[in-house]
Amino acid sequence: MRIDILTIFPEMFENVLSSSMLGRAAARGILEFYTHNIRDYSQSKHRNTDDYPFGGGAGMVMMAQPIFDCIDAVTADCCLNDAEKRIRRIVMSPRGRTLTPELAMQLANEENLLILAGHYEGIDERVMELMDDEISIGDYVLTGGELPAMVLIDCLSRFIPGVLGSIESTEDESFSGSGLLEYPQYTRPSVFRDREVPAVLLNGNHAEINKWRRNQALIKTKQMRPDLLSKAELSKKDLEFLSSLDEI
Ligand code: SAM
Repeated sequence: MRIDILTIFPEMFENVLSSSMLGRAAARGILEFYTHNIRDYSQSKHRNTDDYPFGGGAGMVMMAQPIFDCIDAVTADCCLNDAEKRIRRIVMSPRGRTLTPELAMQLANEENLLILAGHYEGIDERVMELMDDEISIGDYVLTGGELPAMVLIDCLSRFIPGVLGSIESTEDESFSGSGLLEYPQYTRPSVFRDREVPAVLLNGNHAEINKWRRNQALIKTKQMRPDLLSKAELSKKDLEFLSSLDEI
């Protein structure tokens, strides 16, 4: 997958996109990242990318011209040998639809993504007409779209075959599969500062381990995110276990 990122702070992406899983995926050619500095496309004398809002009000607004020109250049480059190539254009925005595993999985199937990171009070609305999607990473406001863009890239990359190593998996995690939060994990040593790992995990009985993990996932979900239980796939045994918790 090729991902083009439009930003006024391209340096913010350097470490993140070259480290860990994303860096490895890029080194193996599974992911290609290109960051573009919107400022390079500004036609103003001082390379401005923002201006005062029409109608007044606080803050500045990102101008349409540098972003339109940057998108034109990226599209021309990306489609150099294939004019039919489809690039899905995304703008990071708190008013967008919220990022979910389902949306990330859908985006992971694209061959080309363009991600625009906003700044200041917002972006000239005419830019939105070029976009396929507005995506939010949650109901809070950050200072810029760079971190949200990195969150989106990291999240969707995990669903691209080959990005995760064979020992990591997206199947047995919080929100995936049955829709519960993940059970508690432990590693060696079995006793650390007088704290013991639950005995069931040490006995090698996989049926018991699986039952314990399922029940722990139910407990965690009930404690931390009870809203998820109404959408989760729950068996009769799960429901019985949950109602036994109410009796305690
Ligand atoms: N005035 C805007 C509003 O109330 O919706 C917020 C602008 S915010 C300070 C600047 C930029 O940060 C946005 O254009 C967007 O790209 C990014 N941003 C901030 N919070 C975000 C979020 N929760 N999800 C995605 N992008 C976000």
